[in-house]
Amino acid sequence: MKKKRIYCSFCGAPVTVRFIDEKYRDYCENCNTTFYENPLPVASCIVINEQREVLLVQRKNDPYKNMWCLPIGFAETGESIEQAALRELKEEAGMDGQIVRIIDVDTVTNYFYGDLAIITFEVKQLSPTIKAGDDALDAKFFPITNYPPLAWESNEKALQKFIETYKDVWAMIDSLKVIQPAITTHHDIPKEKSKQYQLIASIIASMIESDIEVFNLHWHSEIPKYDDSNYTILLSIHQKALQTIKLWLTGNRVWKNLREFAVLGMQLKKEGVSLKDILSAIAISRKSIWVQVIEKNILHSPLEIYTALEINNRIILFYDKITYFLMKGYEHPL
Ligand SMILES: [Zn+2]
Repeated sequence: MKKKRIYCSFCGAPVTVRFIDEKYRDYCENCNTTFYENPLPVASCIVINEQREVLLVQRKNDPYKNMWCLPIGFAETGESIEQAALRELKEEAGMDGQIVRIIDVDTVTNYFYGDLAIITFEVKQLSPTIKAGDDALDAKFFPITNYPPLAWESNEKALQKFIETYKDVWAMIDSLKVIQPAITTHHDIPKEKSKQYQLIASIIASMIESDIEVFNLHWHSEIPKYDDSNYTILLSIHQKALQTIKLWLTGNRVWKNLREFAVLGMQLKKEGVSLKDILSAIAISRKSIWVQVIEKNILHSPLEIYTALEINNRIILFYDKITYFLMKGYEHPL
């Protein structure tokens, strides 16, 4: 427990109190020393596992003996606050970790320890096992939606802030998991924009691959009724477009494929298919991609939607290219 200062630590004379810089402070009349009180730095860790459970340790000692809290402890001289957080994690839960980011900074006055500055980090779990340390009774994961009351109010505040920060991302992950089961935590989502783009693009590409029948059905339901011969050749525009887009989204060169649309355009002209029908087949094909993306519910967070809009723009441009090559073939003198 924090003790009241009685004697000057420099000269040993009894300490008095003076009003200095708008506050009452301990003061030594003998050596004219003012004692400024600084908060003690405390580091704390939020570790979440793949089941979205939070690591808590059960306190062995007072205050709040037997209660649970985040791994937490005082920073020591000679170590950074990040090192202190990781050291406490190792000492209390036997776990190796890696700092991800600061979640919360809180200053509190604790009756037991005095003024504290508590810095809570999100920490990524690096070692699989947990083992309660010497000054903990137990260490284990609790569901983030159902954990016991925490010993420190500051821990509770930081954990709620953490949940608030990630709840949109978790909703996004839950929806992404349907298509991309490898994604389990937000650590699996790339931080770079270009990599996010690649991820979404590959998700859409694999959707085209696995749901091709649904895309065809959607196209079929929207297309006006044609006679059978026209229908088949128009459907081939749609299918060819999807296959080419799939290749293009996964980073393949598609120049040759685009030129094939010119050949298809010539064929459409030969079959006597009207321009109006060709253009509507293209528009419905493009639309089928977005209907399916929306139905699959894969776009949740602002970031995802932003990335998807970027891809959407490029898909529009891509369909414009397809249209150009089809028209080029269509207008080619036979
Ligand atoms: Zn003194």
